[in-house]
Amino acid sequence: MTISHHPPEDLLAHYAAGALSEAEHLVIAVHVARCARCQRFVRTMGELACIALTDATAPESPGAFAAIMADIDRRPRTEPHGKQSTRSDPELAELPEPLQRCEFGEWRWVAPGLTTRSILLTPDGKRRAFLLHGEPGTRLIQHTHTGDELTCVLKGSYTDHTDRFETGDLDFSDEEVEHELVVSDDGPCLCLIAMTGDLRLRGMLGRLISPFIRL
Ligand SMILES: [Zn+2]
Repeated sequence: MTISHHPPEDLLAHYAAGALSEAEHLVIAVHVARCARCQRFVRTMGELACIALTDATAPESPGAFAAIMADIDRRPRTEPHGKQSTRSDPELAELPEPLQRCEFGEWRWVAPGLTTRSILLTPDGKRRAFLLHGEPGTRLIQHTHTGDELTCVLKGSYTDHTDRFETGDLDFSDEEVEHELVVSDDGPCLCLIAMTGDLRLRGMLGRLISPFIRL
């Protein structure tokens, strides 16, 4: 598995510090469990925090940070491995280890080719997490967001106007991003998503069907 898309570094640093919401933490944890590079980043942030607490000469300049990142990339890679699942539900047993501890709602129809399954987290009134399953070739029309969205691909792939996102990749979108997502033709795509706000669909058709799209 080749992972090409990683979380923004500030988000990863907040993850390392345990400062994210439960939904965001879950999505980043699933990515990190599969990503040797981000595992090294998280480990290094922990080491750096210890140094910074005790050493007044800890690096602060952007150049020093770039040097740390270069050092992370030079370190030996150890491929991550997940625990063996003990869940009896065969569908859940295939999910990455951080999801094995979660409770799920029922699958729900969203639109033709799209279904969703909520993850039952501690309600914070703001951010939610869910699985989204798309059939091959399904298109989610041009849209933007009223909040932000973290997506980790669990199976299959999709494309937007910028790139292709494959298993393990992490995609970050906010109000600034407007895109159209298309599930690749070679198989279904399963994603884990943490989201605030809603989708805002573009065009006449988008406005008409917006009330029917409930993610
Ligand atoms: Zn990564």
